[in-house]
Amino acid sequence: MSSARAGANSTAFAVERDWLPEVMGFVPCTACGELTARAYLRVLGERHVCIPCSGYER
Ligand SMILES: [Zn+2]
Repeated sequence: MSSARAGANSTAFAVERDWLPEVMGFVPCTACGELTARAYLRVLGERHVCIPCSGYER
């Protein structure tokens, strides 16, 4: 038996996982850098901070 294996397993897979968190609806907090959902993000002037950084209303 002659095992003639054609190793034509070229990986032509372009791994492009360069997705930005912002696309998912997440924005890094300007203060702590924590990824925060836009829904929970507060805009202070030109800053985007998470709820805890914005003062955290209790
Ligand atoms: Zn924060």
